[in-house]
Amino acid sequence: MSKSILIIGAGFSGAVIGRELAEAGHKVHIKDKRTHIAGNCHTQRDSETDVMLHVYGPHIFHTSDEEVWTYINRYGTFKDYKNRVKTTSGDKVYSLPVNLHTINQFYNKTLRPDEARAFIEDIADKSITEPRNFEEQALKFIGPDLYRAFFRGYTLKQWGLDPKQLPASILKRLPVRFNYDDNYFTHRFQGIPEQGYTPIVAALLDHPNISVELGVEITRAEMATYDHSFWSGPLDAYFSYNLGRLEYRTLDFEKFTYEGDYQGCAVMNYGDEDVAYTRITEHKHFAPWESHDGSVCYREYSRRCTEDDVPYYPVRLVEDKALLEKYIDQAEAEQNITFVGRLGTYRYLDMDVTIREALDCARRFLAQADNGNKFDTFSVDPR
Ligand code: UDP
Repeated sequence: MSKSILIIGAGFSGAVIGRELAEAGHKVHIKDKRTHIAGNCHTQRDSETDVMLHVYGPHIFHTSDEEVWTYINRYGTFKDYKNRVKTTSGDKVYSLPVNLHTINQFYNKTLRPDEARAFIEDIADKSITEPRNFEEQALKFIGPDLYRAFFRGYTLKQWGLDPKQLPASILKRLPVRFNYDDNYFTHRFQGIPEQGYTPIVAALLDHPNISVELGVEITRAEMATYDHSFWSGPLDAYFSYNLGRLEYRTLDFEKFTYEGDYQGCAVMNYGDEDVAYTRITEHKHFAPWESHDGSVCYREYSRRCTEDDVPYYPVRLVEDKALLEKYIDQAEAEQNITFVGRLGTYRYLDMDVTIREALDCARRFLAQADNGNKFDTFSVDPR
């Protein structure tokens, strides 16, 4: 039987769930308080230079999930793109992620892979067997010099916390390589949509059973008029923050233009603590298949997310997780609603994982839609 479905949020989570349910014959209405679709993946051309801007910071699609890759490629053309990040530390520029070139540059050496491995093993802290935090993880794998040059300052700026207070898992996102491979990601498929992400989300939403309303807030009374809702906004926002706020980091972007090529690459990180920004991104380099004389760059500053800011990175320290538990309890008591995505489940998600979870959630919903049981409160356990 066809159901009336409300989806709050027109990002990847909402668009994928909406699409799957619409194709199965359900009537889907999507609302977003922003005036554009695609959430934080939103892209638009700069009016002055025509450069494609990643408005909420760079998004590079990378995945080893072949089904997700095939799925998303149905809605737009992806161009091959390899993320090659550089970092400035002191008065030098180095290659990231830490690889043989970085090690040789940093130590002014000409080590071969085996020599570099032995060299790093020698300076790494062997007393750490089970790293309990970010700092220990770094000291164990790369030793104190590289940690201080590339990770300590950057992480302090990015998270506003001493790396000793952060989980080791954050650093585990980054590889250390004893060869000259400087591809930031290790996934099988990698690319950026030729025309940006917004047309991809528009294509997902382009279905006769989907209607979209932008620039509007939602009320509980309105939600109650639908058979089921999917909420991809912040979990605590749904409850009007009645237990307090889950901690997020937000980003400030300082935009500037340049005639020509400002930095010669898409992403330049800044490892030093006394440089206030974490990185500069030059957006025309995210579309190397285009050519532009003018250039648009963003200096990126991270800070604590307050009421009026856009939430980016969930902090998820011990006290945040305790508060999260309480919100989970409240959420479980709700009827006919499922919390989805990065904000709805308070987890840091890459785009491919967001799409995978949305697909799985929609499929479970379709399989269970008529069995009379309460559908899952969360697309994935937020813990
Ligand atoms: N990081 C760092 N220096 C760098 C790049 C990353 O210290 O030059 C740390 C930082 O704490 C960051 C984490 O490694 O949050 C994960 O890096 P990634 O590039 O995955 O950052 P994200 O995509 O989450 O912004």
